[in-house]
Amino acid sequence: MEKKISLSTQKKQQSPQIDFMVNSYLANKISDKEMTVWLTDIFNNGMNITETYLYTQAIIDSGAKITFNNLDGFIIDKHSTGGVGDKVSLILGPILAACGCYVPMVVGRMLGHTGGTLDKLESISGYNGFLDINQFKKIVKEVGISIIGQTNQICPADRKIYALRDKTNMIASPPLICGSIMSKKISEGIKGLILDIKVGNGAFIKTKQESKKLGDLLSLIGDKFGLQVKYFHTDMNQPLGSYAGLMCEVVESVESLKGNGPSDLMDVVFKLGEAALIMADVDDPKKKMLSVINDGSALEVFNKMIYAHNGNINHIHLDYKYSLDIYANQKGVFNFINTKKIGQAVNFLTITNGKKDINSGAKFFKKNGEYVDQKEIIFKFFSNNKNHLNHIKQLIDNSYIIN
Ligand code: URA
Repeated sequence: MEKKISLSTQKKQQSPQIDFMVNSYLANKISDKEMTVWLTDIFNNGMNITETYLYTQAIIDSGAKITFNNLDGFIIDKHSTGGVGDKVSLILGPILAACGCYVPMVVGRMLGHTGGTLDKLESISGYNGFLDINQFKKIVKEVGISIIGQTNQICPADRKIYALRDKTNMIASPPLICGSIMSKKISEGIKGLILDIKVGNGAFIKTKQESKKLGDLLSLIGDKFGLQVKYFHTDMNQPLGSYAGLMCEVVESVESLKGNGPSDLMDVVFKLGEAALIMADVDDPKKKMLSVINDGSALEVFNKMIYAHNGNINHIHLDYKYSLDIYANQKGVFNFINTKKIGQAVNFLTITNGKKDINSGAKFFKKNGEYVDQKEIIFKFFSNNKNHLNHIKQLIDNSYIIN
């Protein structure tokens, strides 16, 4: 039977075996191969709640846990389980900060077929996503938000395990997702967390039932660490917004902060934002979010954050040499049936063999259920490498239907 953990009556729990694996891997005392065997076992057999909690604790303990003193607003974050075109963090983070919250955000790189917030931010020239804790805290305090990756100081074990999970395709596992997300979020020193669990053919979680189970697990682990969590299931049966890639998603985020965001993307931003601001005790959350977009203060926060991270906001624009338009071969109703393939194609363009082409990506002209005419444009793929575009048709084969 599952052992119930009561943190109030117990000293910090630890598991020698889990700690050994996490710490030895971080210290290069066990190899990628050995770690993969262990992760595969977790991937195939799962972990119970106690083990998931202890795994999360071990990753947190691999680095420092931040504390914030004397901030005059609620300390909150949002995190997604990963999707295609999911740039919500880049938009919602500055909105929440402009509404008076503090957002210390630790994010990951691209994972499997999904994009990574850190890779997107690094497409802005100069952006430094690896600040030390004091710099991170200073920017959170002064600007309201700072976005960094896992560093040697914060969740270094997740940084290493995350990269290995990406390489070995050990991603869609509730305890591994939970340890990875919650370790970062708990180390940030936040009080509230909004989770966006992506569900569908472009997500790691395919059904609402699995999503609910993962949401409950994440909430339970959050609760054990004293973190207030609210989760949502949002649709990932098609890319979110109009673009997927690196710089193109930053450009789309900036446009969204100017009030020009596509409706599907902004629906998710407002839904998660409303829950975040209710948690933070802010009145009229939707009105407040609209006002910080309309008066430019959310965009100002974004720009200040980029500046504080040494990024150059004047370099936020798309610049590609080659593009490939894909047209409908018949008229009918358009639907994505394998959004994962679209994500893989985008990741192939943006990062091939570790080399980034920040200006590559895709633009989507149709959403699920929309009517399309024969020969109407449905996708534009763009890149600075003509050869890469030659593979696209094959990569997105059977990723959508028109009927
Ligand atoms: N985001 C993370 O940080 N980790 C995961 O495992 C999945 C999504």
